Amino acid sequence: MNTNLYLKIKEKIEEADAIVIGAGSGLSTSAGINYGTKDFDKLFPELVEKYGFTDMYTSSFYDFETEEERWSYWAKHINYLCIGRNAENVYKDLFEIVKDKDYFVLTTNVDRQFLASGFKDEKVFEVQGALTKIQCANACHNKLYDDTKMIKEMLKEDKDCRIPSRLVPKCPVCGGNMEVNLCKDNFFVEDDYWHEHEKSFKKFINENKDKKVLFLELGAGFNTPGIIRYPFEELTYELKDAFLIRVNDKYAFVPNDIEDKALEVQDDIAKVIKEIRN
Ligand SMILES: [Zn+2]
Repeated sequence: MNTNLYLKIKEKIEEADAIVIGAGSGLSTSAGINYGTKDFDKLFPELVEKYGFTDMYTSSFYDFETEEERWSYWAKHINYLCIGRNAENVYKDLFEIVKDKDYFVLTTNVDRQFLASGFKDEKVFEVQGALTKIQCANACHNKLYDDTKMIKEMLKEDKDCRIPSRLVPKCPVCGGNMEVNLCKDNFFVEDDYWHEHEKSFKKFINENKDKKVLFLELGAGFNTPGIIRYPFEELTYELKDAFLIRVNDKYAFVPNDIEDKALEVQDDIAKVIKEIRN
């Protein structure tokens, strides 16, 4: 146990005027929200048998023959990673650490764990969408629809990896197919809610640019480094009193030009958060 390191992190959090949390997939992985192969065959034997799927990630790119099969899959995917899941401990611990501070969250995670753990909606910008929202697959209009009720109904009526045709969602505007609101191509819909949150994030940075601002980066690797990792490095460099704490079990290194304003914490995020909460 690296007590000095934890003390240093705690001190940085205490003295910060503002905390910007940047959370990537590594945070949810450490929370036990697993897209990987562990237990996949036990959780979804029917998906293994019918399609030969091995994990939640690669299976999400499968080209299903029918919408009935596609939504049967997505109902299971969304329920397992999001709707059927309570707030995980690492997120709850994180909330306890920052709840009395001035904070803002920027995340690429789509599992809605921040909101489930008590973080205020107006302070969480989910850049790449959310599993509880669907959109027109052709992006014919920029409105999103909550899928929570729909997914539960699909799960109830699912049979042999198919849902009944009457439950297949259709776009209320063009009549075409619907899609989960996940940023994977040019059809990703950014609605008013998304734009408001983007604006709030920029405002938060601007309001705190001359203060002691702490960038607390958790599990943001190199899948989409342009969203959290690189901007956090740039802001740490540019803002006079900024400091970066980069927690990552593989890629905790920081560039040389900010090494005096940063802390590399190469460790399991859940463990680190638990230690600094105590
Ligand atoms: Zn449409």
